[in-house]
Amino acid sequence: MHELLTHTLKHAEHYLSGLDQRPVAVPTDPAQVRARFDGPLPSGPSDPLTVIDELVAAAEPALVATAGPRYFGFVTGGSLPAALAADWLTSAWDQLAGAYVASPAASAAEAVAADWLAELFGLPPGVSCGFVTGATMANFTGLAAARHAVLKRRGIDIDRVGLAGAPPVHVLAGAERHVSIDLALRHLGIGTDHLTLVDVDDQGAMRPDDLATHLHRLSGQPLIVCAQSGNVNTGAFDPLTAICREAHKAGAWTHVDGAFGLWAAASPSLARHVTGLDMADSWAVDAHKWLNVPYDNAVVFIRDPTEHRAATGKTAPYMVSGGDDARENYQYTPETSRRARGFTVYAALRSLGRSGITDLIDRNCAQARRLAEALAAEPHIDILNDVVLNQVMARFRDPAGQDDDARTRTVIERIHTDGTAWAGTTAWRGLTALRVSVSGWMTTDADVDRAVHAIRHAASTP
Ligand SMILES: *Cc1c(COP(=O)(O)O)cnc(C)c1O
Repeated sequence: MHELLTHTLKHAEHYLSGLDQRPVAVPTDPAQVRARFDGPLPSGPSDPLTVIDELVAAAEPALVATAGPRYFGFVTGGSLPAALAADWLTSAWDQLAGAYVASPAASAAEAVAADWLAELFGLPPGVSCGFVTGATMANFTGLAAARHAVLKRRGIDIDRVGLAGAPPVHVLAGAERHVSIDLALRHLGIGTDHLTLVDVDDQGAMRPDDLATHLHRLSGQPLIVCAQSGNVNTGAFDPLTAICREAHKAGAWTHVDGAFGLWAAASPSLARHVTGLDMADSWAVDAHKWLNVPYDNAVVFIRDPTEHRAATGKTAPYMVSGGDDARENYQYTPETSRRARGFTVYAALRSLGRSGITDLIDRNCAQARRLAEALAAEPHIDILNDVVLNQVMARFRDPAGQDDDARTRTVIERIHTDGTAWAGTTAWRGLTALRVSVSGWMTTDADVDRAVHAIRHAASTP
């Protein structure tokens, strides 16, 4: 074991020490990448050391430096040193994190990390919390609790009668909701016929007046309002106070998808964007994005723990209880056996502290503004969004005045070929755009300047 782990440490150190210089885009051919891994099913055992060396050799050329300082694709955080180290231990300890009796340590770490996060976000006292794989599952869990609760209020036990015996649940979400909401509704048997899309403003934030109109139209039915803090393209925030007020009047449950935007609550200068947050009923937030812990890690909070357990709780004679004071992690997630995700979140929160988290969020937002301002100063570059958070969209005008979409795609291709920095492509209101997300703890202002330089260069070449 010692030889294997110290040897593996060298591979890890080698990778991490080169992260800053590594190109963030690797030109690859899927067949070639696969070929390096491929071969017949091994007929018998191999030496673990050889397995690791060969794994590294196969993977290395096709690894993407997403954890590095100039990767601005999707919403991608790296791994804070303490979180990465805790993640290694999580694997070494290999705890069955669901049941208290199987890991009192995993139970306590999640209980404390949950309390710290709830305090950081300013959530109501007594909220329950589950550690899931991503905001996708956090949204699913929050909406499952919502479905149960809004039917229970009408005297319907969905667990007994199922959807076949229940009236339709209507969900109202902004037209710019994240795709994971639609996925969750599909899992929950809420068809698109019962999803109402609420109008959004020019930044993609839900318009509460339009929400009020729809709530009025649907009044009397079981209703769920799904709000968003942090639009994936613009970073825009739905106005939670007005939304929650309308939802309360209509007897609706309010779920907040705050995959990355909820972290605004941890910054005094950004917290105004999430005012009213504490009026909602459930919240989803990622840890693997802006908290910069390794994948896969996210958190769901639910105001009423009874509804949380109604959505994800389970009992079986073999699931021995740790007693009344013991947190049973599996009661709060769709999974039963699972990784002890709380350790890395706990380590990240301890290593940064409140001020460290505020600094990280504020720094990334300042860097997004720095990038947007530098690009906006260029003659053929337009910034499409108000940069209120860490997201920037840039569009490249065709100097010949012909096709700006084609020009934008060409410039993005050049940025990718250059490999200094990576950001993805998106479409905003029918316009093709470069989509930049600044979410990594390693990113410095100098990295942003290097990215700007690379983008400028790609945009200035005819
Ligand atoms: C990323 C994201 C999700 C999905 O989160 P995963 O961690 O990828 O499962 C949901 N909503 C928003 C707003 C996001 O940015």
